[in-house]
Amino acid sequence: MNPSPPTAPYRGRFAPSPTGPLHLGSLYTALVSYCEARSRGGTWLVRIDDVDRLRCSPAHAGDILRTLERHGLYWDEAVLYQSQHDEIYRAALELLGADGRVFPCTCPRRELAVSGPVYPGTCRTRYRHPPPGGYALRLRVNEAAVGFDDRLQGRIEQNLRCEVGDFIVRRRDGIHAYHLATVLDDAEQGITEVLRGIDLLDSTPRQILLQEWLGLPRPDYCHIPVLTDRGGIKLSKQAGALPVNRDAPSENLWIVLGLMGLSPESTLLGAPPEEILDWAIAHWDIRRIPPEQHIEIMTP
Ligand code: GLU
Ligand code: ZN
Repeated sequence: MNPSPPTAPYRGRFAPSPTGPLHLGSLYTALVSYCEARSRGGTWLVRIDDVDRLRCSPAHAGDILRTLERHGLYWDEAVLYQSQHDEIYRAALELLGADGRVFPCTCPRRELAVSGPVYPGTCRTRYRHPPPGGYALRLRVNEAAVGFDDRLQGRIEQNLRCEVGDFIVRRRDGIHAYHLATVLDDAEQGITEVLRGIDLLDSTPRQILLQEWLGLPRPDYCHIPVLTDRGGIKLSKQAGALPVNRDAPSENLWIVLGLMGLSPESTLLGAPPEEILDWAIAHWDIRRIPPEQHIEIMTP
């Protein structure tokens, strides 16, 4: 009998955008990815998605990290800050540019709003040289369908040309796009499985295409349900989700474990975070995650 091929040790990550303090929805995603990595004897990393300096702040980043620590969620290696990776993103764009994969786009926003969600290709062949003034850079996507097998959501396929169009990899204001930054950093951190909210499921084909064109390894993908309010809206700071109370970590963990499909014993309520987490890791089974979780959110 052939021994099964060795699999790379699991490396997962939690990648919050520091646009505000951690709320229950992001604690949920953090805890699922933590339990998954720990129960597989893997490494758990934290990345701060702060490419967009206009929306993010170092104060929020510090606040998020402190909240994770207060909940016993300790990461294994140095925190990666996307704001410090501009050089890597720029080099990748140069590579794509040299292969003719990107083009400048000067379409005004209101024009694109009229044409709908799929970029109509207006600037694909418009410029021989970079135009003077501001412009975004878009990736020239091809006709091929991009598919992958999500561990929880099954087979996903997308025809980027028809369903998305040439997407932005660098904004007009010079800020690198999320898709570009995330694939480079997932590779940089040696992530073996990207586990994140299902709201990002349909951005995965774009990221897979970028991985292919940049010669980066493709991690596995696992998209988990997100917490929503009663109206089905994802919990977010914009939608009025309150920050988690850092002074009640045990209670928060106990509540979130219940939402994750675990039934923590009542004796754990009030136990130190480390003890609750040990229990969670020992009982963790990602297949028991409920498909949807509505939370009554309180607005101040
Ligand atoms: N920073 C993204 C967010 O907060 C997550 C990115 C990812 O997991 O790829 O929604
Ligand atoms: Zn354009």
